[in-house]
Amino acid sequence: MKAECANAVDYLYQYIDEELTWSRRLRVRWHLRRCGPCMDAFDFESRLKERIKECGRDEPPQELLDRIRAFIEQEAAGGQEN
Ligand SMILES: [Zn+2]
Repeated sequence: MKAECANAVDYLYQYIDEELTWSRRLRVRWHLRRCGPCMDAFDFESRLKERIKECGRDEPPQELLDRIRAFIEQEAAGGQEN
């Protein structure tokens, strides 16, 4: 996994929760636009977050977050073969 992808993933959660400053949001957006695996992960996370809200839960279970993170890392590693 590339370092910039790792950073983007770290910011992803805060981005979705709208806890980022505008400069960091821009940085994440910029990365998502040029990085397919992270964009897919972002889509997935956003939808998941919506679902969780609909179900009336504030926070997803930690186990689920761990699984998502593993999935993202796998995707990012597999999608970037240079
Ligand atoms: Zn990326």
